[in-house]
Amino acid sequence: MITIFDTHAHLDLEQFSPDREAVIRRIESGTLPVVPDEPISQPIEMTGVLLAGIDAQSSICCAELAKRSPIFHAAAAIHPNYVVNAADNDWKIITELAHSDSVAVIGETGLDRYWDHTPIEQQINALWRHIDLAVQTAKPIQIHCRDAWDDMLPILRQAVKEQGLTGIIHAFSGEPEQAAECIELGFYLSFAGSVTYRNAKFSPLRESAQMVPIDRLLIETDSPYMPPHPFRGKLKRNEPTMAVMVALRLAELRATTLESIAKTTSQNARQLLCTNVKKG
Ligand SMILES: [Zn+2]
Repeated sequence: MITIFDTHAHLDLEQFSPDREAVIRRIESGTLPVVPDEPISQPIEMTGVLLAGIDAQSSICCAELAKRSPIFHAAAAIHPNYVVNAADNDWKIITELAHSDSVAVIGETGLDRYWDHTPIEQQINALWRHIDLAVQTAKPIQIHCRDAWDDMLPILRQAVKEQGLTGIIHAFSGEPEQAAECIELGFYLSFAGSVTYRNAKFSPLRESAQMVPIDRLLIETDSPYMPPHPFRGKLKRNEPTMAVMVALRLAELRATTLESIAKTTSQNARQLLCTNVKKG
């Protein structure tokens, strides 16, 4: 049995509106939406999917989905790209959700200089609000960092040192130096479809994936985005069972078996997300 825990998916988004129930059934039965050239040799069991909120409404949807099935866990936050649109009432909703038993993680939050929808000072401000929520509620944080490591690392360093913050770097995209720093700070590193891509520009990322200690390694899909190789550009929409393709690539990069990567990443996720949190 291949046990898979997808630590980052957006099932609440409109891309899933036409057939969300069918996607959920595929998660429950461990069925891929496409058949890879080399089929996965053993049955897949999805042990968890962490649904990441991107704004108040999305976080409410994630929390509702998490109540449906023990497979689903919810994260609540305002994504850095949407902070610019957040009103006081949105923050009130996020704060209430963060304190509720239906939410296991504060995320996704972070910094994004690639899209730059929200002025960076406002993004930093919002990141600190989420850090405070994570610390107050003793829940892990889920960090999005795109082209913003120079801003991110000093913030994480301070929050870990002064407030004992812990959590996940989602869709890790950094180089080995940044991976080493995140590991030293106690974070888990989650790898997404990008680690399966063959382009030369991802070779530092592949190196990062090889050096992460096995007890800090996680996998994710970032569904509906980032379909893994060889489905990039072919599959319109990614979905959580496809995290097995990320595990397969990590097994190849780390010279181990799919079964072992799947088992350990699944255990790591359960340990981080399910230890202290009662599900409401
Ligand atoms: Zn995301």
